[in-house]
Amino acid sequence: MSSNNNLLDVIIVGAGFAGLYGLYKLREAGFKVQVIEAGDDVGGTWYWNRYPGLRCDVDSLEYSYAFSDELQQEWRWSERYALQSEIHDYIKFAADRLDLRRDIRFGTRIASATFDSAAGQWALVAEGGETFAARYVVMATGPLSVPNKPHIPGLDSFAGQLVHSVQWPAEPLDLSGKNVAVIGTGSTGVQMIPLLAQEAAHLTVVQRTPAYTVPARNQEWNDARIAYWRDNFRELRQTARETRAGVLHEYGMYPAATVRPEDREADLERRWVKGGPNVLYGFSDLLRNEETNELVAEFLRGKIAAAVKDPAIAAKLMPYEYPVGTKRVCVGTDYYETYNRDNVSLIDLRSEPLKQIEPDGIRTEQGFYPVDVLILATGYDAMTGALLAIDIRTTGGTSLRSAWADGPQSYLGLGIAGLPNMFVVTGPGSPSVFSNMVLSAEHDVEWISDCLEYLRERGFPTIEADRAAQEAWMDHVDAAARGTLLNRAASWYRGANVEGKPQKFMPYVGGVNTYQAKCRAVAAAGYEGFVIGAATAGQRTGGEHQAAAG
Ligand code: NAP
Repeated sequence: MSSNNNLLDVIIVGAGFAGLYGLYKLREAGFKVQVIEAGDDVGGTWYWNRYPGLRCDVDSLEYSYAFSDELQQEWRWSERYALQSEIHDYIKFAADRLDLRRDIRFGTRIASATFDSAAGQWALVAEGGETFAARYVVMATGPLSVPNKPHIPGLDSFAGQLVHSVQWPAEPLDLSGKNVAVIGTGSTGVQMIPLLAQEAAHLTVVQRTPAYTVPARNQEWNDARIAYWRDNFRELRQTARETRAGVLHEYGMYPAATVRPEDREADLERRWVKGGPNVLYGFSDLLRNEETNELVAEFLRGKIAAAVKDPAIAAKLMPYEYPVGTKRVCVGTDYYETYNRDNVSLIDLRSEPLKQIEPDGIRTEQGFYPVDVLILATGYDAMTGALLAIDIRTTGGTSLRSAWADGPQSYLGLGIAGLPNMFVVTGPGSPSVFSNMVLSAEHDVEWISDCLEYLRERGFPTIEADRAAQEAWMDHVDAAARGTLLNRAASWYRGANVEGKPQKFMPYVGGVNTYQAKCRAVAAAGYEGFVIGAATAGQRTGGEHQAAAG
């Protein structure tokens, strides 16, 4: 066991988009910062995920850092929806360009974090025993980083190659001549299925719930588009921050009922042709009004019927059991068309229940499907998984695992009552996965950095979310979701995909613009809703910060 006795100002856990910007921003502000990362390179989810077909479904020009003119001007994105390899190259480029690697400890997974209430310091212990100490901790562990490993009967008996999409092998899998099966038809499954079908001898898709899928219509960026962005990126990025999703969608202003039926259909068709998630943003009340929702859902079902030749298979691919948009809509290329291939079978678990996985295949109530390579595209223990994987507690007796036993509680997603001097980036209770993640990560990092500068200038050593403010914020987060159809789906937004996980709608859906305005107001009012503490006796003897008033 080794101990790192150097007291840092800030430890950041995670070297994805959020952690890297956190390191840059806090270092620029004069703090002594260290990033600790489990992987062997930067990238976070874009390091671990490398399955075939992986792209981001936010435009690359928007899914990148806005804080740096240099990065914006020097990097040229090649496509609208960048491949994982290009996004990972971009993150590596940013880390090198900003000279970040020297303060990142790779290959080190944090197992526990304990706040010593008397000393006012966090002690983090890595798997393997190494310890790190800091006044503040920033959890940049990402909402989508811990794989959801499902309990499926017989899964452990499978004798072929078993791969989880989130832990894809570094070497490409050779699927030629193989019988391949994929369990899961969320964003991951929808992206990989068309490519696996081209490579495998036979592909079997296991579908528990069909996804609404829209065509990406990916394209190469031309020079004019890149030049436009380079010339106008500050304004474009600021405009994105003022939208509800943090993305420059073409947001429809009106509820569907106020639009003439023929205009509704034409607009949906136009947006469908434009590609990506555009078709979801035509009406202002998609997630609030059942009739509007059904109108869009039926439009999308019609597209499935048009794409899939066998009407029986098309029917199996049509979602009816939840409103469109209440599970994340998938963006794909040739997804439905793939089911027209002779080498693709669909097991729809609703009409063909699974009996068990066997050493050499999948047995359902209707038949047996031989499998050499079984791929779990079963998603993530989202939003809370990475935080709860670390035993986070205080010597005063608070434990995150107990505090979140009934679901996550936070103030603005940024602070947690009972856990002083800890911040979360894109945490539950913030827009997070309901927004452009890079934009939200940048916002949260900037807010945290401003907060730490505020504390330093005034000599306040501790800050902690006030419990009453946290409860009021959680009520607001719940109310925002209750005002929509979002609780009508068994989605990962609600923890429904992980056995035993508390069911609670986790992201804040009141809008990026509303949320960021609230965060600005909180900061302007001297971090209203946070308790800012004077130094304790223990801190005064050992610490460099002297307290002013409490
Ligand atoms: P996901 O959306 O949670 O999908 C997991 C799939 O596995 C679902 O179809 C689910 O069925 C199925 N499944 C889970 N447990 C199962 C079980 N025990 N038996 C049978 N089927 C089971 O996960 P994901 O596809 O990895 O995507 C997660 C999120 O990551 C996305 O929503 C998105 O935010 C992000 N992502 C984005 C992109 C992109 O930018 N294009 C790509 C990949 C991921 P149920 O629906 O019935 O639960």
